[in-house]
Amino acid sequence: MLSRMIKDGDVFIVFDLEWNQPFPGKEYGFDVSKLSGEIIEIGAVKMVYSGGTLIPNGVFSSDIKPACYKTIHYHVKKVTHKTNADLAKGEPFGDAYRKFREFCGEDAILAGWSNSDTDMLKTNLKFFGMDDRLGMYFVDVQPLFSVFSTEKGRQRSVEFAVEYFGIPIEESFHSATSDAKYTAKILQNIFDRNKTSEVLSVISTSAVNCDMKREFTTVGAPCDHVSQALMLVDGFNSRCPVCDRPFDAKIKPFRIRKSSYGLLSCPNDGEFFARTRLKKNKEGKFYASSVLRFATQPDYFLVASKREEYEKFGIEGKPAVKKEPESDSE
Ligand SMILES: [Zn+2]
Repeated sequence: MLSRMIKDGDVFIVFDLEWNQPFPGKEYGFDVSKLSGEIIEIGAVKMVYSGGTLIPNGVFSSDIKPACYKTIHYHVKKVTHKTNADLAKGEPFGDAYRKFREFCGEDAILAGWSNSDTDMLKTNLKFFGMDDRLGMYFVDVQPLFSVFSTEKGRQRSVEFAVEYFGIPIEESFHSATSDAKYTAKILQNIFDRNKTSEVLSVISTSAVNCDMKREFTTVGAPCDHVSQALMLVDGFNSRCPVCDRPFDAKIKPFRIRKSSYGLLSCPNDGEFFARTRLKKNKEGKFYASSVLRFATQPDYFLVASKREEYEKFGIEGKPAVKKEPESDSE
């Protein structure tokens, strides 16, 4: 949650990253799990908040020469259309990051589509021995879009939101700079089409401190039975992962199909969103994976909509209808 009010003159930096991936099985001479992706592009748009709207005030764009994953991964090539020659033309990550921080200035609020970019930025900073504290709040525009559209509780792509708002498509998606520009326009549309006080309220309650651990996960051992698999992760939802006090259930976890949802409250640390997913491994055994995170407004909406579905249809959930083949990554 933002510790201050958003006021005229506040700066939002809407950013996006592209990163290259290691080739599975290839020997790199370091622990690949410490660098799941290496950043090859940073794109950002500066937007100044004024009187309930956002005014664009500059674009940042940097191509980065990777130091570890120098050969473009086929999957990354397919999405970004970058070649090995393009990668070689970039500047060192350290230089690009320094310029990016200068562009951000002091006291900006970061925004982006999904929180994977802030995580990847911190991963790269840490791996290359740089200070990985961002010192900024981050607003995830993806769940914000789902709150202020008829898409409540669903995860949508940038393309989907661009079409939803009728934003003109002037350049191709999947370069960091163009995706940052599109995400900035989506955020601008959210402001322009809704009551300012409501948008500000959702933004301040869903902004997270980039440097605080906000998500805790566990994966249970594989079991023969569903009930055993669920029991193994049960304890995870009983105590606060920060201070270890017992949780109060605000909404006791309930199960719909293969997932359970709940809202738990710690007297010290506030409210947490809890979700457990039941999965099956290759050997046909069941295991459960659980996540606990500081609840944000989109989480409240998600739990409320699942709860409504649960009350109507029970554990089986809403009967499946044939889905349209669109980019729904849920
Ligand atoms: Zn606590």
